[in-house]
Amino acid sequence: MDRFSHYVNELFVWNEQMKQFLQSEKVGQDSELWGKLDHFTELIESTNRELSNEELLSLQAKAELIHEELEQYFKRKQEIGNVWVVEKVLSPGGHSLPELPYPYNALEPYISEEIMILHHDKHHRAYVEGLNKAELNLKKARETNDFSLIKHWSRELAFHGSGHYLHTIFWRNMSPNGGGSPEGLLKGEIERYFGSFDAFKKQFSEAAKQVEGVGWALLVWSPRARHLEVLQSERHMLLTQWDTIPLLVLDVWEHAYYLQYRNNRAEYVDHWWNLVNWHDVEMRFEKAADIKWPAV
Ligand code: MN
Repeated sequence: MDRFSHYVNELFVWNEQMKQFLQSEKVGQDSELWGKLDHFTELIESTNRELSNEELLSLQAKAELIHEELEQYFKRKQEIGNVWVVEKVLSPGGHSLPELPYPYNALEPYISEEIMILHHDKHHRAYVEGLNKAELNLKKARETNDFSLIKHWSRELAFHGSGHYLHTIFWRNMSPNGGGSPEGLLKGEIERYFGSFDAFKKQFSEAAKQVEGVGWALLVWSPRARHLEVLQSERHMLLTQWDTIPLLVLDVWEHAYYLQYRNNRAEYVDHWWNLVNWHDVEMRFEKAADIKWPAV
């Protein structure tokens, strides 16, 4: 066997090993990885003559590319696995106030220290306590089979749950080193769906400025429509578009800006863009975009 066909043979063996590995790891048949490996198998099998140097190099490049993709796939899977092992599962009533990822004065001059202390330590804490209370009362309702107050506790669950989860996202959506514009997959998808980053930013700002009363503006990914969307939430327990995943949220409740901006919410919204932690939003989008339901 000459060294060329020896190399091709090695690739063939490696390819078969990879397939067995995918099978043992129970990687779904619909995964792109299978398609790529099958395509590569066909390529090798159709190679029944001595290859030129260029052809061999091209084959080698393809093999390396697939190898890299497989490695990334399993690295990611391992990370997800580790998260499952390390992270605790919350029992009913087990929520706690997350620490801010920066000091209370870190977002100045755009959001004052006074607002951040009140907003995080008073308002957010009240949501956490309300959510725990609602969960524990619903647990009690399940245990005693007494659901006479289910409407009340479900409302509390939605109100305090949305409050806790949205604020948890909101803090991380911002950074003292924020501002600018996104990169990567998120940048591409914003441009594809909204036309441009500026068009998106305009729509998001207008959505925030024109929320009726109190609420939020949200950039969401719809796993079913498979595109981004900008939503308004008038009071966060109402008008929620379920089945979406918040990526970027802006708190336009008065407590978020009134001490500093009075009734000038528009100025607050405009200034807020200087704080957006796009790395965090990108990370959220990349994780969330992996979630796909059948498109109907
Ligand atoms: Mn708030």
